[in-house]
Amino acid sequence: MTRARRLLLSFFAAAATFAAPPEHAPKPKLVLAIVIDQFRYDYLLRFRSNYNSGLARLLEHGAVFTDAHYLQAATVTAVGHSTFLSGAPPSVSGIIANEWFDRESGQTVTSVFDPKSKLVGGVPGSPGSSPRRLLTSTVGDELKMQGLESKIIGVSIKDRSAILPAGHMADGAYWYDSDSNHWVTSTYYRAELPGWVRQLNDEHGYQRYLGAKWLPFDAPDDSAKPFCTMTAGTDVRYCGGLEATPWGNEMIEEFSERAVAAENLGHHAGVDILAVSFSSNDYVGHAVGPDDPAVRDISIRTDRLLGKLFAFIDQKLGAGNTLVVLTADHGVAPVPEVNQARNMPGGRLSETRLQQKIIDALARRFGPGKWLLNSSATTAYFNLELIRSHKLDPAEVERVAADAVAAEDHIARVYTRHELQAGQVQQDAIGRAFSLGFYSPRSGDLFILQEPYYLFDATGTSHGTPYNYDTHVPLIFLGPRVKPGVYAEKVAVNDVAATLAAMLDVQEPAGSIGRVLREVIQ
Ligand SMILES: [Zn+2]
Repeated sequence: MTRARRLLLSFFAAAATFAAPPEHAPKPKLVLAIVIDQFRYDYLLRFRSNYNSGLARLLEHGAVFTDAHYLQAATVTAVGHSTFLSGAPPSVSGIIANEWFDRESGQTVTSVFDPKSKLVGGVPGSPGSSPRRLLTSTVGDELKMQGLESKIIGVSIKDRSAILPAGHMADGAYWYDSDSNHWVTSTYYRAELPGWVRQLNDEHGYQRYLGAKWLPFDAPDDSAKPFCTMTAGTDVRYCGGLEATPWGNEMIEEFSERAVAAENLGHHAGVDILAVSFSSNDYVGHAVGPDDPAVRDISIRTDRLLGKLFAFIDQKLGAGNTLVVLTADHGVAPVPEVNQARNMPGGRLSETRLQQKIIDALARRFGPGKWLLNSSATTAYFNLELIRSHKLDPAEVERVAADAVAAEDHIARVYTRHELQAGQVQQDAIGRAFSLGFYSPRSGDLFILQEPYYLFDATGTSHGTPYNYDTHVPLIFLGPRVKPGVYAEKVAVNDVAATLAAMLDVQEPAGSIGRVLREVIQ
């Protein structure tokens, strides 16, 4: 052996020692990825004194981010859930809203609607849902592509909330079909429900709640005034459906326990992921708003349900083997009338009035015709064929419509497709939020933002803006490799995927724009 070769060999030996992986805590066996649908960050503060279970455990022992936000303008369920474990904004993930106008089919499609798939376990023949419209990978997909045996399962009342965090290679996504009162999936995942889901459906758990009254969590007996009842036509507000009561969340928790046990989660060669989204908070919140006692009540009940789920998983997997990450998909605005009563800005705007303004302005300027193919309060799709046949400049058509909308009261901003494509937006967080929300093949031609606290809904309240009441959500990690503490720096929910990827030693998802929150990794 020559001297040079000996030197080279000893160099490689040294390099190998340096390249040994850093010693850190053992990897978790299960990632429990939780979304509470429509859970504002301030619900952690406002109801803190009544949290003594799951949320309390996260707040006391976890890494708690106090200023976590969504970056995109459309703060809605599909976008929150697609962002959560992909780290991708709509501009990359293609999930621009809960639903959008599909120019190719001329139909409005949901973020997960998939005509190629059929529902499994519900009304036979119903169309199914799948993650096919999600263009990027999730943390679960990356684990799967890495090749170790991992199980990835998503569950929620809503199809999009079960499907989008779980990703393309998920072993299953399950949601609740209120037509059949069954847990269902789609042929994208499998041809038949697994035995344990069929078993759960056969138990008809929903029957427990027929005619039930939702009483305050601390009611001494059932003479207390209920928030709503499952019987229509009484003088108490009708809950509307199981999903709009705390019992919807209870069913999700029950399903999650069954999934952990039956799918043997936490006992595979690779890390497993259970993505759970609690939907009922959103239905309740829309109906009554963040300042109503019913929201406080369901928040406190969510704390208890989380505690129950954590205890079950600890018992199955042993304590310290589960990495929990919890967030919300969006916040919510106060009810406008509640705001007005306390001298805060806010009010209700008319979507049809706005639509008519656009139609009138275009007809006045360019002549009669069906200029709008589709529109909602915050976006509009123009008739490109008509624009072409009139040999018009699409940018000019957009401008005329934008000017008409901008002249309306309480409209804060209007951006056009051409402005977003050219990056001609105001250089602030809101301008950036619209850029991050724009995906050319799916987005509309006009983007409308109302002033803070104004809503296009006739009753109740809603979300969907880049204002803090919609973007600011909880973000908490707890478990192996997590350094507990309170972290006040402003972070994005987009950082979750990069952080999990770093903790799990796996490739960062394809469209992730987040940073690794290395301050919480030990
Ligand atoms: Zn939502």
